[in-house]
Amino acid sequence: MIDFQEKYNVFQSALEIPEPWYVFHHELAKDEKTLHIYIEYRKGAEFSCPKCGASGCKVHDTQDQDRTWRHLDFWQYKTILHARVPRVKCNSCNSILTVQNDWARPGAGLSLFFEYHVMSLMVEMPVSAVARKVGEHDTRLWRVFKYYVNEAMKNIDVTGVTRIAMDETKKEAESMTKDEFRRYAYSHG
Ligand SMILES: [Zn+2]
Repeated sequence: MIDFQEKYNVFQSALEIPEPWYVFHHELAKDEKTLHIYIEYRKGAEFSCPKCGASGCKVHDTQDQDRTWRHLDFWQYKTILHARVPRVKCNSCNSILTVQNDWARPGAGLSLFFEYHVMSLMVEMPVSAVARKVGEHDTRLWRVFKYYVNEAMKNIDVTGVTRIAMDETKKEAESMTKDEFRRYAYSHG
């Protein structure tokens, strides 16, 4: 009989993680209603330098033995990704740095898919309601919100803007400077 999992790992395929990463194990913890997915990099894998982008950097060591990221739920199960994240040695810029993975922002504890999911929910409902819905602390979601608002604001040219109107109040707001506008966007999630 063909080993289904050997032939077609549904988790790996759905996660859309590129080589040299692969899913090597998963575990359904029914008591905690959680699916744990373990990702590993292939032996002898080479990565790009996170600093200068040079390719072909070899693994130097792995200090981070079990990093975790919350990912999209698998049906009724909360899903946690696990991976050892190596540091690579770059011969071009002489650095030893932790590699960047493809499923999360550096330093984030949530996968990009999960962040995208909560950001789309935030369009429809307040952050506290999203936090309750997905079972996360709202401060964690506020950090995500602020990060993406900040990124979006960097790309908006408000140089010529002196007055703006807010739908929320239906009244024209007082003239705002760019910094005040940023603060407004931050405080009105
Ligand atoms: Zn480099």
